[in-house]
Amino acid sequence: MGGVDHETEERCLHGKRPRRLLCWDGSNTGRHYLACPLKGKSNMCDFVSWVDDKWPPMFQQFASSIWEVVGKFKKQADDVQVDLLEAI
Ligand SMILES: [Zn+2]
Repeated sequence: MGGVDHETEERCLHGKRPRRLLCWDGSNTGRHYLACPLKGKSNMCDFVSWVDDKWPPMFQQFASSIWEVVGKFKKQADDVQVDLLEAI
């Protein structure tokens, strides 16, 4: 996943062929987008181009709330870990 997209005519701000990535954040979860191939390095540019259409509002709401739930679970898991460490 996350390979260079060979179909697109788009180029990032560096003039490079962008990478196709899957978004895992908020209401855009599950949408593919094109981003700078230098992603993860300090010199990546801000180029972003969505491949998939925007989700319908209902799904956007659903995707956002899912991440809220995930966030709560993660916090709970962290709390449990702290409890365990204190119990030792
Ligand atoms: Zn770039």
